[in-house]
Amino acid sequence: MVDTKFVKCPHCNSDVSEGRLTRHIRKVHSPLAEAKRQLEQEAILARKAKAEQMRQKVSCPTCGVLVALGQVKSHMGTVHSAPVPADLLRKMGEAPPVNRFRSASEREEYWRRLERGEDPKESNDLFDRTRVLQGGLFGLGKNRRH
Ligand SMILES: [Zn+2]
Ligand SMILES: [Zn+2]
Repeated sequence: MVDTKFVKCPHCNSDVSEGRLTRHIRKVHSPLAEAKRQLEQEAILARKAKAEQMRQKVSCPTCGVLVALGQVKSHMGTVHSAPVPADLLRKMGEAPPVNRFRSASEREEYWRRLERGEDPKESNDLFDRTRVLQGGLFGLGKNRRH
C-alpha cells in the first residue's frame, strides 16, 4: 500500500492517513487528551505572562536604579546583600517571606491587636492584597485541577 490517502482531521486540520484517522481522533482528540492539551496551553500562557511580567522595570527601593523584575533578586543579593522586599516579591507573584509584615511597627501593631482580643487581620489590608494576588493570574493556573 504505497499510495496512502491522506485526509484532513476534522478536529485539528492536520493530514492523517485515512486508515489511521479513527485512531488519531480517539487518541489525540479524546476528551481527556483535549483537557490535557487545554491545561498545557494555559500553562504556556501563564509562563509567557510571567516572563512578560518579569521584564517589567521597577526601581530598586534601596538605590533607585531601574531593574527588571526578574533581576531584582540577584540585584538585591549582589548589590545590597539584602533580601527582596515583600512588596516586590508580591509583584513577582511570589509569596512574601514568613515574616509578612512590612515593618517592625506593623508587626507590633499585629501583636497588640491580638493581645487586645481583636482580629489583627481586620486592620491589615496586607492579608487581603496577598489573597487577591494569589487568586490572580498565576494562582489560577496552578491551583486548577481536573
Ligand atoms: Zn486531529
Ligand atoms: Zn539597588
